[in-house]
Amino acid sequence: MLKPEDNYLNKMSQNGKPLNPVVLFILGMLAGLLIYWLFIDTDTDNTVCENAQPAAEEKAPDAAQASAGNAVQPPIGADPAAAAAVQPPLAAIPAQPAPEALPQNVHYIGGEIEHSLYRSVASRFPEDDASKLLAEKISAHIKRLLVFDLDTTRQLRKGDRFDVIYEETEESTDGLRILAVRYKSQYHFKTFESYYYRHEGEEFGHHYDAEGVESQERLKNGPLKDYEEVTSLLNDRRPRHDGVDLKAPIWTKVYLPFDAKLNRINWNTRYNGNCAEFTYLHDGMKMIMLHLEKFPEGITPGKTYKAGTHVANVGNTGRSSASHLHYQIETPAGKIIDPFKYHGSYRPKLESPQLEEFKAMVEKLQAQMENGRVQDDARAEQQATETTGAEAAAADEAAPAAGQQL
Ligand SMILES: [Zn+2]
Repeated sequence: MLKPEDNYLNKMSQNGKPLNPVVLFILGMLAGLLIYWLFIDTDTDNTVCENAQPAAEEKAPDAAQASAGNAVQPPIGADPAAAAAVQPPLAAIPAQPAPEALPQNVHYIGGEIEHSLYRSVASRFPEDDASKLLAEKISAHIKRLLVFDLDTTRQLRKGDRFDVIYEETEESTDGLRILAVRYKSQYHFKTFESYYYRHEGEEFGHHYDAEGVESQERLKNGPLKDYEEVTSLLNDRRPRHDGVDLKAPIWTKVYLPFDAKLNRINWNTRYNGNCAEFTYLHDGMKMIMLHLEKFPEGITPGKTYKAGTHVANVGNTGRSSASHLHYQIETPAGKIIDPFKYHGSYRPKLESPQLEEFKAMVEKLQAQMENGRVQDDARAEQQATETTGAEAAAADEAAPAAGQQL
């Protein structure tokens, strides 16, 4: 007498022979995959869909939205007939206006962290010297923008995601400005964002998170009324660098944060450039400023000056590659103190009406990053299809043969 399972297998058999359970398992898997592909995995098709219409950038938002709803484009390199059968529900398609096209001098890059930040950025470019230099600059900018939140030497994790929109511009000393950076950190379980914004009447812009809070901290009662950014901190592991660097245009006025006595000026000028050493009267701390432009009239060692006095000008003298103020605090015994701890710090927040203007700009940049990412993914998919095309064809050839064996 047959056992129940034997009976079942007999029913499923072909040519009177029992069907191998392995075959049944494979058939089940294939059916599952087909169902998943047809009904569940619509997300991929949506993103590729937007990307398949680069011209959508020039369309009015409504038109682009409508076309995104109508046409489900096949993934690049996929079988058109099979893809035509894919009909994702309309509700699954995000109703977003097409992002504005990026100007000629503005570019997107994005990807995942593989090794260091620099190497991960560099992997998005060709391997020539100009691209390597560009990747170095981009990673240095990102590091600086996020330096108060993320340690890019110790806290990066493989698979962290970054998106960047950068601008080539003469306005920046190194020819580059980050307009937007978004970094998804697994270490912090947080996504950091930083957007460049310069409101009307401002000498230079600053970077802010998506809510309009400045990306970098500022010194309370610091020596500069405004500066572009902190380009170096104490803990950024530059050897023999004992102060903070505040990037500001040449001739920017430097004011004394506290009443102080001027001890000396212009020693070791080959490295320090024009420089000044003060002693703060209230606590005896030593304060040093390096790389200055010429001093205002009447600045003389031995004299004391009131807090708020214009005592120097920002410069680019000595060993300095760009105009900035090096600001350093030491105890009387010569122990280096972090100026951000000494002064305390804060992060300014944009207020109305700038905040509204800023948020509208952020939305555009976010859409442009999404669009850049989608285009990148499609390009990668296309490349993969091209390179594995021959292998895929060979696999197709082999498939019927394998079936016959079963
Ligand atoms: Zn410095």
